[in-house]
Amino acid sequence: MDNPEECSVCCITYDESERRPRTLPCGHTFCSSCILQLTTANQLTCPDCRASHPATSLDNFPVSYAMEAFVKKFKNVQLAQTAGAAGGKPSVKPAAEKQMSVKTRGGTTQERPSGMSKKLWSLLGEQKNSMRSQVTGSQNTQSQLDQYVTWLTDQNEQNHQLLKKVEEFTHNMGTFEKLIKEEVARVVAMNTGG
Ligand SMILES: [Zn+2]
Ligand SMILES: [Zn+2]
Repeated sequence: MDNPEECSVCCITYDESERRPRTLPCGHTFCSSCILQLTTANQLTCPDCRASHPATSLDNFPVSYAMEAFVKKFKNVQLAQTAGAAGGKPSVKPAAEKQMSVKTRGGTTQERPSGMSKKLWSLLGEQKNSMRSQVTGSQNTQSQLDQYVTWLTDQNEQNHQLLKKVEEFTHNMGTFEKLIKEEVARVVAMNTGG
């Protein structure tokens, strides 16, 4: 029995209507449909063990409720697996995958859109970070330029003031020289006159 959820004659999964699982007195189970087809002249020969059973109606063979319950559970598991593989219902997704997110500029987190692979999502995050650092870098360069211009303006202002002082000094020196010349002339005149 490779697939216990299937009737071994028609290889179709048991259901709760035309293919209800029914157990023969020999212990083997087949679907209602196959049991009806295999019954001839009120006799049913088990396809598995060749045991012969009287078969006047389907009621000769009780429904296997255990098998029905098993099939029900089996189908639910299959549904969940299919939904999980298609990326549909998140019921069977691991919790860690749902927390996959990327930090954005404002410190807020962005959820990975469904359907986008984790690899692509993380690449996108790296790209964003790299672009952000480049923008921050150029902002730094701009502010350094601004500082340099301010410094140059300061220097120019200082040079201007220094030049003014030198001119003032030169002017004073001229005046001083003139005073000395006058003083010398006065002394010479005194000596000459003396
Ligand atoms: Zn069958
Ligand atoms: Zn049998």
